[in-house]
Amino acid sequence: MNITVFLGAPGSGKGTQAKRLSTAHGFKHFSTGDMLRVAIQEEKPVGLKAKGFMDKGELVPDSIMIELIEEALSHVSGTAKVLLDGFPRTVAQAKALDSNPRTQVSLALYFIVPEETLIRRLTGRRICKKCGESFHLEFMPPKANSICDKCGSQLTQRPDDSESVARHRLTVFRSQNEGLLSYYTSAKKLKEIAADNNVDEIQNTLAGILK
Ligand code: AMP
Repeated sequence: MNITVFLGAPGSGKGTQAKRLSTAHGFKHFSTGDMLRVAIQEEKPVGLKAKGFMDKGELVPDSIMIELIEEALSHVSGTAKVLLDGFPRTVAQAKALDSNPRTQVSLALYFIVPEETLIRRLTGRRICKKCGESFHLEFMPPKANSICDKCGSQLTQRPDDSESVARHRLTVFRSQNEGLLSYYTSAKKLKEIAADNNVDEIQNTLAGILK
C-alpha cells in the first residue's frame, strides 16, 4: 500500500481535496470523521462510543480509532494508493500505522491555513444529510437556500461546527499537532502545503506531488 496522510486543522480542506483526488486520480480515500458519522447514523457500537467525544469536539480515544482504521485498511489491496484524511491525529496513531509494514506511511502532507480562515470555513459549512455533499454559506453557497444542489435534500450544520465547539477543536488540534509534525519531520516524510488559496490550485499542487 502506498499511504499518504493529510495533516492539518479542522477546516483546512483535507476532506475536500481528498475527495477530489480520489475521484480524479483513483486514490482510496478514508476519512475517519466520515466513518464515525456513518457509524453513529447506523447506531453501530463504535458510533455510540465515539458520539460523546465528537459532540464536545474532543478526540475519540486512540484505541478505538486505531482499531477502526486497521480494520478498514485490512480490506485494501497491497498495491492501492491510499489517502488518510483525519488520521493520524496523535503520535500514538502515527506509530500504530508505521508498526505494521503493510500500512507504513510514505508521505505526510501538512495543510497550512490561518486560524481565522479556519473558523469562517467551519462555522459556514453546511452538509447534505442524505448524500454528504459539502457547501459553504459564503464560499460555496447552494443554489436554493438550505437545499442540496446534488440531491435536493435538506442541508444541516454539523453539531461540532458551531463556533464554540469549532474553537475547542482547534485547541485540541494545536495540542497534538507539534508532536505529529516532529514525528514526520524526523522520519523525513513531512511536506507543507499552503492551503489558503483556490481549491483548484491546491488540487493541482497536490496532484503534482502525488504523481
Ligand atoms: P473530522 O470530520 O475529521 O473533523 O472529525 C470529526 C470528529 O471525529 C473529531 O473532532 C473527533 O472527535 C473524531 N475523530 C475523527 N478522526 C479522529 C482521529 N483520528 N482520532 C480521534 N478522533 C477522531
